[in-house]
Amino acid sequence: MKAEIVATGTELLLGETLNTSAHYLTGKLSALGIEVDYHTTVGDNLERLEQVLRQAIGRTDLLVTTGGLGPTVDDLTKELVAKVLDLNLELDLSSLEQIKQFYGRRKAPMPLSDEKQAYFPKGAKILPNPIGTAPGAIIEKNGKTVIILPGPPFEMRPMFNNYVWLELQRIIGPQAERMNERVLKVFGIGESVIEEALSELMSFPNLTMALLAKRAEMHIRLVARSSKTTSGEAVNSLDRAEEEIRRRLGDKVFGRDQETMIGIVGQTLKDKRLTIATAESCTGGLLGAAFTQEPGSSEFYLGGVVSYSNSVKQGLLGVSEENLKNFGAVSEEVAKQMAEGIRSKVGSDLALSTTGIAGPDGGSDQKPVGLVYIGIATSKVVYARKFQFYGERESVRQLTVQAALNEARQYMLDSERRL
Ligand code: AMP
Ligand code: MG
Repeated sequence: MKAEIVATGTELLLGETLNTSAHYLTGKLSALGIEVDYHTTVGDNLERLEQVLRQAIGRTDLLVTTGGLGPTVDDLTKELVAKVLDLNLELDLSSLEQIKQFYGRRKAPMPLSDEKQAYFPKGAKILPNPIGTAPGAIIEKNGKTVIILPGPPFEMRPMFNNYVWLELQRIIGPQAERMNERVLKVFGIGESVIEEALSELMSFPNLTMALLAKRAEMHIRLVARSSKTTSGEAVNSLDRAEEEIRRRLGDKVFGRDQETMIGIVGQTLKDKRLTIATAESCTGGLLGAAFTQEPGSSEFYLGGVVSYSNSVKQGLLGVSEENLKNFGAVSEEVAKQMAEGIRSKVGSDLALSTTGIAGPDGGSDQKPVGLVYIGIATSKVVYARKFQFYGERESVRQLTVQAALNEARQYMLDSERRL
């Protein structure tokens, strides 16, 4: 089954709004094994929208539209889908009732223009919108399916998940091909090294592998195609491939699918009943923010110091004047003292520190932009590791956060092995 996504809205063409819906829907359709051949974006213009819809219906099996369901005159999608499919618009009384109730809850009369939102192409299956006023619709005609969804992503996404997902499963049927996907997440090695290590894995039967470079990690995406009835076999081949990849890349693989670096680190700290604290310079609190992003982080994150200036490094963390003078704030010695300083102050099991040159200014030949030291202190050891990152300021800071989290992860893994 081949699909096209048509996003409507002049604001998308003006660059005011990012077309996140095409991205979102493509991910969902791909997971169902539906091949998305085209993304089309068109403004709120009668002739051009009609032309785009006609073309899409002509060349694909499934057309998904977003936007243009509102009450105003530039909201044209349903009207034009009806025209292109040669269907009349009919009033749906239950939708009209629901729109009235929507306004009733807000103690406001329904504007007359909203009645338009209760009209649908004849024979459409109507998709309720509990969040806004514009219902969506599914129309099947001559072997083609048109799914009409609202523009606001916070309305479109629940509508897709609550209704469209199941409808699509019914339409594609149990024999239809689907994609079974697994993503393995890697930190600390680059694309070419991974590719080399995994080159012959490409020959796994019925499996495709792709490497995706993210800002601070690499993703290995495995896809095994199957029908609904053979998805068990597909899962088996994903399992085998995952096992082999983990064997080759070792603990450079930090997680899979929805797992995140911070999630893994937080969970490990919780499982081991360990606490952690942070002393940050170049990350300015981003590392602490990453820890507190996790629900339940108060179980393991004690707190930290943003020690941007030398005086705070000295005053609050006990970094020595001598080290600052001899080695500079961006140095192994200072990173170690920062980590040990916060750990002894707050009494945590582990502590992480960051100090580096985020740029764009402040680099030198000896200490170029992107040079970062990450310190780690525990009751047993204190050490720091040197990193040379590349990229703009924000990349360097994000990479530092990820590398610091990875240090904590790696330390906990290694200390497990030593036991
Ligand atoms: P509409 O239903 O066309 O009136 O769209 C309502 C709002 O939803 C617009 O103002 C946009 O902010 C947002 N929106 C519409 N289409 C998209 C899209 N493809 N991606 C992200 N936001 C969108
Ligand atoms: Mg619009």
